[in-house]
Amino acid sequence: MNILVTGGAGFIASHIVDAYIKKGHKVTVVDNLATGFRKNVNKEAKFYNADIRDLEALRKIFKKEQLDVVNHHAAIAVVTESLKNPIPTLEVNVLGTTNLLLLGGEYNIKKFIFSSTGGAMYGDPEKLPASETTEPKPLSPYGLSKLLAEETIRYYSSNNNFNHLIFRYANVYGPRQNPKGEAGVVAIFGGLMKKGVSPTIFGDGTKTRDYVYVDDIVRANVLALTKGNGTTINLGWGKEIQDKEIFDAVAKATKFKQIPALAPHRDGELLRSSLNAQKANDTIGWKPSITLKNGITKTITSL
Ligand code: NAD
Repeated sequence: MNILVTGGAGFIASHIVDAYIKKGHKVTVVDNLATGFRKNVNKEAKFYNADIRDLEALRKIFKKEQLDVVNHHAAIAVVTESLKNPIPTLEVNVLGTTNLLLLGGEYNIKKFIFSSTGGAMYGDPEKLPASETTEPKPLSPYGLSKLLAEETIRYYSSNNNFNHLIFRYANVYGPRQNPKGEAGVVAIFGGLMKKGVSPTIFGDGTKTRDYVYVDDIVRANVLALTKGNGTTINLGWGKEIQDKEIFDAVAKATKFKQIPALAPHRDGELLRSSLNAQKANDTIGWKPSITLKNGITKTITSL
């Protein structure tokens, strides 16, 4: 297949590009390198340094590449940034997505695969793990932008006659996650601990997230090429892991002995999160497989 992967210089999508190429697909990457790195892009992929807000630049790429599938991962994915200055997040994540959908219709793509969020989508729901029927209640413009993008995908895919599959990810971690970012505690904690610096936990350490290793997310994106049409699927373990448990697990993997620094809870951040991924098993035959212990070891080794 001819596949466009947006955000393919970033953490998650660069691994997806590698897997698609390994399977023999022809891959085109669009990324403006805002948070991604050119060195992450597989040498066999065709790379365009372009911004998804630029409809005309994208149109030239769609015209030239004759795409079958768009796998859309480019986004501004920083919750605190979206609270401070929401417009760029909304422009990239909603209007950028709309540009890709318009061109998908114009150039007759067959399928649109999207990386949405579970945590930021459901907010702090009454019942955990959250399933796809849990009411969306974003606590940040980032979460809102993903909800709006999802609705836009549902609208344009049905009106323009192509399939779609929306994934709502739990907290993804693994090699190539930026240790200088805001999220991605395994990479951040690991990077600091390896330098002998004690990481900061925001809150009292009991905040929870559901952690899924990047290879499991990649496997879902490979399955998505042939399975799962017109639906929205959570990807996660359904398990809550506290910040202090992550701290301890990363400390063990890096042989770090100090205690964490504590700072106040940050606005827009959820208190608890975990995702029920039963539907992923039922629709595309996906289950997470890499345990937190093994995933942390692989991640720390890569730093
Ligand atoms: P990332 O920042 O590493 O990747 C995003 C990529 O998009 C970067 O390479 C960046 O340069 C590119 N990009 C940003 N704005 C762009 C623009 N205007 N035009 C073109 N490219 C642009 O982040 P990631 O963690 O790999 O996230 C990938 C996707 O998965 C995002 O859509 C994110 O919202 C989603 N997601 C991630 C997680 C997670 O835990 N990491 C959880 C849920 C959803």
